[in-house]
Amino acid sequence: MIRRQYKDIAAMVGGHSFVENHDGLWIQGVSIDSRTIKEGNLFFPFAGQQLDGHDYVQEVFAQGAAASLWQNDHPNPPEGVPLIFVDDMLKALQHLAKAYRNSLPVRVVGITGSNGKTTTKDMVASILATTYKVHKTEANMNTHIGLPLTLLQMDEDTEMAVLEMGMRGRGEIELLAVIAQPEVAIITNVGEAHLERLGSREEIARAKLEIVEGLQPGGLLVYQGDNPLINKVLSERNAADSMLRFTFGADPGNDLYPTAIMLDSESNGTHFTTNASNGIAYYIPLLGQHNVTNALAAIIVSKYMGVREPDITRGLQNLRITGMRVEIVRGANGLTIINDAFNASPTAMRAAISTLEELRGYGRKMIVLGDMLELGDEEQQFHREIGERLTPDQIDYVFTYGKLAEHIADAAQKKYPLDHVFAYQDKEELVRKVRALAKPADVVLVKASRGMKLDAVVEALKDAGLLD
Ligand code: ADP
Repeated sequence: MIRRQYKDIAAMVGGHSFVENHDGLWIQGVSIDSRTIKEGNLFFPFAGQQLDGHDYVQEVFAQGAAASLWQNDHPNPPEGVPLIFVDDMLKALQHLAKAYRNSLPVRVVGITGSNGKTTTKDMVASILATTYKVHKTEANMNTHIGLPLTLLQMDEDTEMAVLEMGMRGRGEIELLAVIAQPEVAIITNVGEAHLERLGSREEIARAKLEIVEGLQPGGLLVYQGDNPLINKVLSERNAADSMLRFTFGADPGNDLYPTAIMLDSESNGTHFTTNASNGIAYYIPLLGQHNVTNALAAIIVSKYMGVREPDITRGLQNLRITGMRVEIVRGANGLTIINDAFNASPTAMRAAISTLEELRGYGRKMIVLGDMLELGDEEQQFHREIGERLTPDQIDYVFTYGKLAEHIADAAQKKYPLDHVFAYQDKEELVRKVRALAKPADVVLVKASRGMKLDAVVEALKDAGLLD
C-alpha cells in the first residue's frame, strides 16, 4: 500500500494548507470508512447521504489514523491534528492515486467491456502471477472511488496491476483510464448493458473506447473483433494513433480465435485450442464458449507481457474466479443446477444458452430465465429475441419469471411442443413446476438480472430436492 510522508501526500492530493511541524510524519494506506481505519492511515472523510465523514475526523485519530483530509467548505476543522485541506474530496483521492501510480514503474492492464470484465481480469492476473508480482481489482472496486483505492492498496514493488474499469455513462472510463494510465487496454465486448442510459450501441462502444484516452503512447489495445461496432468507432478516431491493436473472438477474421472448443461437464471446465497455439490445448475451469473468448484476451496480453507458454497454460488452469460467477450446484438428489442469476443482458443470456446447449452427459436440459432490466425502449424486443433463440431440440423446457420474460416465453412457445414452455409471475409456482418435471439426471440453468433475485429459486431447488 502507499507509504509516503505527510508533506508529499499533501502535494499529491493537491492540498493547499497543512501544519508544517508534521512534515516528516509517515502515512501508510488510506481509508474512506472511519470504522475500518488502521494504524498510520490517511482518512478521506466523504460526505454521504446520511453521514458525513467530517464528523468522524476526531475519532479516527483516536483509532490510529496518521492524518486526515478536510474539505474546505466544511466549518470548524479540529485543531492540533495533521489535516490536509482540499476543495474536493473525490478529486483529492483520484489525484493521490494517479500521482502514486505515476511514481511507480508498474505496468498496468486496464479492462473494460459490457460483459466478462471480472472473468478476464482474473484470468489475466492468474497468468501474469505465474511470472510477476501482480496486484488486481478485488470485488467490485472498479468505480471512480474503487479504482483509486485499488491503486493505493498496491505495494511499491508491484510489477503489474490488472484493473477492472466499470461504467454507467460517458466520460467515466476516460476518467479511470487517465488515472490508471494503462499500457494495455482490453475491451472484452460491447453488449447492451446501460443501453437505457447511453441510447445506442454505438454510444456504448464509444464509452468503452474512452479507455484509449489514458493508454500510454505506443500502448496495446486488445479488443473483441467479432462485433463490427468497435472497429467502426475506432475508425472515427484520429488515424495517427500510435497504439498497437490486436483482436480476438470467435470469428476466424480475428488475430486470435479458437480452432476447437470442448466443454467438459465432468469437471465443469472447457478445453480449447487456438490458431496460434501450435497444438497446445488450454484448459479453463469454467464452462462456456464466452469464457474461451475471455481467455483469448488474457492469452494475448500475457504473451505481450512476456509470459512463457507453459506458464500461460498453468495460469489459466489454476484460475480462481472472484466471487464465483457461474455456480454449479448439485441438488440433494442429483439434479444439476447452474446458478447464473447474478446478472443478465441479451449478450450474456445468449452466452448462457449456448453454454447449456453445449453441455453433454445430462438427461434433459431446462432453462429458467427472468427479466433483463435496464434495457430501454427496446426491452420487449430483446426478450422476444431470446425466445426466438431457444430451440426444443437443444433445450427441452423453458420457464420464465417476470413481466418482461413473458415475452421470451411467448416467442419460444411458437416452436415448442405443448406443455414445454411456462411463464410465471410467482417464484413458488415456478419452483413447484420445475420440481414436478425435473429428474435427477437433468440440468437446470437459472439466469436473470440480479434485481429479479432468482437465487431464491436456486436455493429452493437445491434444498427441497425433487418431488417423487
Ligand atoms: P462483468 O465483470 O463484466 O460483469 P463477469 O466476468 O462477472 O462480467 O461475467 C458476468 C456474466 O457475463 C457471466 O456470468 C456470463 O453470463 C456473461 N459473460 C461473461 N463473459 C462474457 C462474454 N465474453 N460475452 C458474453 N457474455 C459474457
